[in-house]
This record gives sequence, C-alpha cells and structure tokens, in this order.
Amino acid sequence: RKFLRRNTLVLFTMAASSLLCVGAGVVLGFALRSREMSLREIKYFSFPGELLMRMLQMLVLPLIVSSLVTGMSSLDSKASGKMGVRAVVYYMVTTLLAVFIGIVVVIIVRPGGDKDHSLPSRGNVEQVQAYKTSYSKRVHQRNITVAVNGTEGTNSSESMVPANDTRVLLQNILETVEEVVPTAGSSSGVNALGLVIFSMCFGLVIGNMKQKGQPLCEFFDSFNEAIMRLVAIIIWYAPVGILFLIAGKILEMKNLAQVWGQMGMYTISVIVGLLIHGLFVLPLLFFLVTRRNPYLFIGGLLQALITALGTSSSSATLPITFRCLEENNGVDKRVTRFVLPVGATINMDGTALYEAVAAIFIAQVNGMDLNFGQILTISITATAASIGAAGIPQAGLVTMVIILTSVGLPTEDITLIIAVDWFLDRLRTTTNVLGDSLGAGIVEHLSRKELQSRDVEMGNSVIEE
Ligand code: ASP
Repeated sequence: RKFLRRNTLVLFTMAASSLLCVGAGVVLGFALRSREMSLREIKYFSFPGELLMRMLQMLVLPLIVSSLVTGMSSLDSKASGKMGVRAVVYYMVTTLLAVFIGIVVVIIVRPGGDKDHSLPSRGNVEQVQAYKTSYSKRVHQRNITVAVNGTEGTNSSESMVPANDTRVLLQNILETVEEVVPTAGSSSGVNALGLVIFSMCFGLVIGNMKQKGQPLCEFFDSFNEAIMRLVAIIIWYAPVGILFLIAGKILEMKNLAQVWGQMGMYTISVIVGLLIHGLFVLPLLFFLVTRRNPYLFIGGLLQALITALGTSSSSATLPITFRCLEENNGVDKRVTRFVLPVGATINMDGTALYEAVAAIFIAQVNGMDLNFGQILTISITATAASIGAAGIPQAGLVTMVIILTSVGLPTEDITLIIAVDWFLDRLRTTTNVLGDSLGAGIVEHLSRKELQSRDVEMGNSVIEE
C-alpha cells in the first residue's frame, strides 16, 4: 500500500523504463548480430554498460561498511541477535527449499538424457583452465585487454595491437574513462564476508559506547545517507547501462542454434526451478509470515531485479536493492542495513538451485545413477557452495567444483554448461536478489516488537535530554 501511495508515477516510469531497456537491449543485440562484430567492437559498444557496472561496484564497499555499522549501532545487542537468528533461519530454510525444487525438477525433466544417452560434445581440461583464467581476470576487473586482443589468457595488449593504431588510442581513452570510476569499492576485490563481520562488530561496539560512541554513530549515519544519495543519481542512468550490458552480451553469444540444441532442456530445467522458487515458493512464504501481498512488494523491487538481470551481480545490485526496499517498500532502515549486506554475501537461493540442477545434469550426462546419499550430499554441498560464492558474475560456476568433487563427478565437465551460463547467471542472480529482499520484509515483520520498543527507548531518551 505504501508502495502504491508513494510517487506511484515516478516508480512506475522508472520500472517501465528499465523493463523497456531490457527489451530494447535484447532487440538491439539480436538486430546487430548479423554484423558479426569483433570482440573489440563489442567491447566499445558495451562501454556504457561497463560504466554502470563500475559505478555500482564503486559504491558497494562503502555501502556495506556504513550500512552495517549504522544498522548494528542503532540496535541493542539483544535485538540484533534476535534479528540475526531470524535472518539466518530464513536464509537456510529458503536455500534448502531452492535446492529441493531444483533436484525435483531436474529429476523429472532429465535434461541429461537416460542412462545410455550419448554425450553432448564435451570440453576438455584446457577449456576449463582457459575458463578459470578468464574468470580470475573478470574478478580483477581487467577484461578490457582480453576483449581487445580477442584472445583469452593473453596479458599484454601491446603484443597484439600495432603500436600506432588509433584503436590503441581509443582503448586508452576508454580505459582512462573507466579508471575515473574506481571499483576499489567492489566486493570482488576484498574479502566480503570478513568485511561484513568486521563492520558488524564495529557497529555493535560503538552502539554500546553510549555518549562516546555517538559522534561515530552520527558519522556513519550521514556517510550512509550520502552514499544513498549517490545511488539515487545512478539509478537514473541504470536503464541505459542495462540496455548496453544486455545487447553486448547477446552480441558476444556463440552459435545460438547449436547451443540451444545441446543445452535446451538443461536451460529450461534451471528456468522452471527458478520460476517456481521465485514466483511461488518465496511469495507464499512471505504471505504466510507477513500476511501482505507479496506481488505488490515485488513490484516495488522491479528496478533491483532488472539491475540484477543486467549486471549478473548481487553485490553490484546492492545499492539499488537498498533503495527499492527503503524508498518503495518502506522497509525499516535498521533492518535493511543489517540484513541486506549479509544476505547479498551468503544468501543465494538461485545459485544453490542452479548448482544442484547442474550437478545432477552432469551426472545424467555421464550415465551415473545417483543414490539417495549422493543426492543428499549434493543438497548439502550446493547449499555450502552458494554460501561460498561471491556476489559477482559467474561465481557459482566456479564453486560448482566443490559439488562435483563431493560425488565423484569429473570437474572438467563444467565445460558442458559454460555456453549457457552467462544467461542462467542473470536469472539466478535475480532470484538471489529477490530472496534477500523478501527476507528483509519477513525479518522486519518478525522483529517489529524489538523495533518498536527501541523506538520507545529512543523517544524516552530524547525526552529526558
Ligand atoms: N552471479 C551470482 C550473484 O552475483 C552468483 C553466481 O554466480 O551464482 O548473485
């Protein structure tokens, strides 16, 4: 109701423009595919999208620190403890539900065929190695060299490009513009979980310091406010960035028909699982706990969901998720500041579901019949792998190794699923963000008593002063 009352027109316009941009990105991407652009041209073309990615990543680190510190310092340790337990229970229950749905779907659909099904064309160890090299490059935000050279695994851009080529100049200009937007704040370059824990402890300590801690509390509070104002500006640029991110990715795609032929059923299994979890199970849980309309709540999240679709990164989406929850859905800041950074780091329903489906798909392709114990192992390791995956593009593909090893499947078979992973990554990231956001709504509802009594306390202390 709050969502509807508040700036309905503005929200509607922004959500609609984001959706339109996704559509326009898809159309533009497919329309330009016939031009067979080189990787270098695609890189130039995607530049506005790359800028959006960097802008969002720039805000993540200061946002995680300031929101957790203020979130923790504004609650007493008993209230934050209770809230923490509720959040962790929600994360565990929903992740296990996601894994369960994934397993049921992949067993019913059997995308990997029957036991004597012939294998789709397999990759090899070198391909996996090449993939890992490119992954670590992405993590370090250094992919412009790769794209310009058109060869993965080459470090020196000079060796591939003629020295006085104007393209080198253009590349340098683009790199310089990119450097203007630093990504030092990206959670990919730091130990996100360590940062979360440190910020929580720090917030708790300054919250307990009474008068002495007051200046620090106020500092982090206004720091957080300033970051959120930056988010408010970036949000206007987001649709343009998303358009180019999506169109660029479609241009990069290899032979579509071939990929679809091999991977169609597997892709469908992951999509069906994610849809069941995101559109039915999570909303049902939200309704059962809060008695509020989950779809109205999801309507307020549209921009965050679209950003997740465009960026494939729940960390990069975090600034927008905050804004949607606080501004559109009116979720208490003490809750979002506390549960969102933690959720974006460890709660990944979409990733867990995808990992379970992918592992069983690979088992099916290998003609391996999994027994109950092995399926249980996959459930547990998929949950662990989703907790361990960073909120960055295709992190889940790398943590897949844990699951495959646990049940004795060949790790090089990850190459089987690489071709469609960029696409599934977007969908599972969207589910991850949805799970975190509905979780914030649920935790707020369950914690309303503590929040109210804290309000009364604060009110009393203001009156005393
Ligand atoms: N890209 C996902 C995320 O950021 C993680 C994954 O690869 O599954 O949430």
